[in-house]
Amino acid sequence: MRNDLLTRLAERTAAREQEQLTRRLRTIDRVDGPWVWVGNKRLLSFCSNDYLGLSQHPDVIAALRRADSVGSGSAHLICGHRAEHAALEQALAEWTGRERALLFSSGYMANLGTLQALLRDGDLCVQDKLNHACLLDGASLSGATLARYVHADVASASRQLATAGDVPALLATDGVFSMDGDIAPLGELAALCKAQSATLMVDDAHGLGVLGKNGAGSVEAAGLGQQQVPVLMATLGKALGCYGAFVAGSAALIDGLLQTARPYIYTTATPPALAAAALTAVQVARRECWRRDRLGSLIDRFRAGAAQLGLPLLPSTTAIQPLLLGEAATALEAARGLEAEGFLVTAIRPPTVPQGKARLRITLSAAHTDEHVDRLLEALARFASRPPHPSPLPWLCRGRGLG
Ligand SMILES: *Cc1c(COP(=O)(O)O)cnc(C)c1O
Repeated sequence: MRNDLLTRLAERTAAREQEQLTRRLRTIDRVDGPWVWVGNKRLLSFCSNDYLGLSQHPDVIAALRRADSVGSGSAHLICGHRAEHAALEQALAEWTGRERALLFSSGYMANLGTLQALLRDGDLCVQDKLNHACLLDGASLSGATLARYVHADVASASRQLATAGDVPALLATDGVFSMDGDIAPLGELAALCKAQSATLMVDDAHGLGVLGKNGAGSVEAAGLGQQQVPVLMATLGKALGCYGAFVAGSAALIDGLLQTARPYIYTTATPPALAAAALTAVQVARRECWRRDRLGSLIDRFRAGAAQLGLPLLPSTTAIQPLLLGEAATALEAARGLEAEGFLVTAIRPPTVPQGKARLRITLSAAHTDEHVDRLLEALARFASRPPHPSPLPWLCRGRGLG
């Protein structure tokens, strides 16, 4: 007899519950800057990716309201491509110093579409072990051989590329790693790709708006142009405070994606109202440099305070400042303690991060004040000062390999 799929799914859910890995939805009733309300309870949030505080910027909201329609009515290639989309694509290309840009509904779709369009069966896709899930999923969808290298280790990436002979190869990396906050060694990766004739793709979801002299991201900060990083992807849902994503590069790349990227072709274009809002967000991000400076000074303040308290910081200089607590239960307990004190900080557990590397993922925003950061530090001293768990002795090792 066939196994019932829903029964099997329920068994998986129950197994997660036992390992304290169940994910729970929380409904946020209201937002005001860094404050969120869950029911009647007001919490100071340190887990949003709204790094510049643009999601509630009055100009961005006004642009959204001015638009003449909410929905686009169709896919881009039918009649959904509106002047708002075109203007946003142009602004993004100009900001990132690329010939053209192409909008996708989300970062997830952009990565699926780009990898599926560029790669075929038999090609090689080399990726950092800590890349975002959708880059990995995109590689699987493409049919290429996926080889993952040790996090941020250029020598390891080089070995992976060298073993493949001369099949076409793409090296994909996050610009800023979403769960660790560190920045990829982009200059060295670009040199490696040049030497090995591989194509470099950077997913700068967490770098755009935050890094670089003009806020154009980790690739700008590393001084890399379209030649060195021919495929640049970033999202509009993080520092820009909106929703959606884009790929920027040569006119040939963009035209190729438009012809062949299935997640671009077979889906409804994002609301023109959102494109208008995102265009305004780009303008504000470029104009109001103080937001980046402010974020930078909050990051410095947080790191200095956390170091003084001996908190288990990771080496990140970006808005993502995780505290490594080890076991999932430890991270959950810390998050619950913080919530009881009025802070919203999420515990990130496997499988999002490796086993034994559960953490509190603290994110800072230009919407926070110095006092907010100081209050968080005080609370963290009470709930998150445990050092990272030592690796378990081999004979006590549970889980991996036994499941
Ligand atoms: C958030 C994120 C994505 C997905 O973008 P969405 O627009 O949320 O789908 C892709 N890559 C990285 C590195 C991300 O952090």
